[in-house]
Amino acid sequence: MEKEPLLMLPGPVPVPERVRLAMARQAINHRSAEFGAVYADCVRCLAPAFGTENRIVIISGSGTAGMEAAVANFGRGRKIACLVNGKFGERLFDISKRYGEPIALASAWGTPLPLEALAESLEEGAEVVTLVHNETSAGILNPAREVGRLCRRHDALLIMDGITSIGGDVVEADRWGVDVAIVGSQKCLAAPAGLAAVSVSERAMERIADDRPYYLDLAAYLKNANKDPMETPYTPAVPLFLALREACLLIEEEGIEHRIMRHQRLAQAVRVAVAAWGLSLFPSIDGQHGYSNTVTAVRIPEATTDGELRGLVKRLGVIIAGGQDHLKGQIFRVGHMGAVGAPELLATLGALQAAMGRLGCRLDGDGVAAAADHLA
Ligand SMILES: *Cc1c(COP(=O)(O)O)cnc(C)c1O
Repeated sequence: MEKEPLLMLPGPVPVPERVRLAMARQAINHRSAEFGAVYADCVRCLAPAFGTENRIVIISGSGTAGMEAAVANFGRGRKIACLVNGKFGERLFDISKRYGEPIALASAWGTPLPLEALAESLEEGAEVVTLVHNETSAGILNPAREVGRLCRRHDALLIMDGITSIGGDVVEADRWGVDVAIVGSQKCLAAPAGLAAVSVSERAMERIADDRPYYLDLAAYLKNANKDPMETPYTPAVPLFLALREACLLIEEEGIEHRIMRHQRLAQAVRVAVAAWGLSLFPSIDGQHGYSNTVTAVRIPEATTDGELRGLVKRLGVIIAGGQDHLKGQIFRVGHMGAVGAPELLATLGALQAAMGRLGCRLDGDGVAAAADHLA
């Protein structure tokens, strides 16, 4: 029997057995104390990962459903300043076009956000700001604290896509002044794809649009989550909730601080390997922006191509991601989020090093050994 490949993608990520098994059971009623307890366990365990005491609701839909819910409920008809330095920043801008009056405050993918332009937009009356905390397409970590400070100074609502930071890196939604934060189940939470959790501040609730979508009406989600037992407005993806509960209990058992440290250590090990190989990381960072701690984007060496490199890595049993849109063929991305550790990371780096060697890339040194030194 062929062994299943190791998914080192920025989502979906490998799902621990305990989480998978939680789904293998008879259907339950979603209007019941049993389901309410599942929902309650999820939000209790997620709160420290969001860094929030705000209400959290869970939507049956992928991360993008959470993004659309946020913009549709809080951006409708409003001036929205969209910070864009990658694919998911662009997606929030595209969603904003359907509901409000967005302006894109853009810089090239993987380069620092134009924060001066944000300050100007806020002066000029932007009421809502969208930010991607960890821009997965480019491997850059954006300065949420700084963006939150600017929003608070101008009393604007901040919507933050934390889809690849929450559960894997430091997120302090309340301290940073994030009004609406979003996470998806198949990224750092290491659960199956198909659920999005969204936190909503009181300040945001006071400004919720009158003209809201039907299925993604967050007022309805909040009203139902306030019931005892907790409920969702419509039939949720119950098996996914069962799995997410188990994934969330694993986060609680590990402890969010430990989990974040594990992610940071893995990210550092990948960067140490890239440096030892003599390759370049894709993002250009500054004092405010950082490298992602959950996904690393690396420029493909000139001697090879995206297809050859990822193809050979795949034959060695490891799936990594390529670049999206205009970065296709220019970068590869290694996801190191969720439940993975040193064994998975070293296997990935070993496959990459072997593949690059066979494809004729001249590497400066032994990245696998350098990463192992860092991890051991
Ligand atoms: C994956 C991802 C999304 C989209 O999530 P889907 O679950 O594919 O809808 C949004 N934002 C970021 C930063 C992501 O990494």
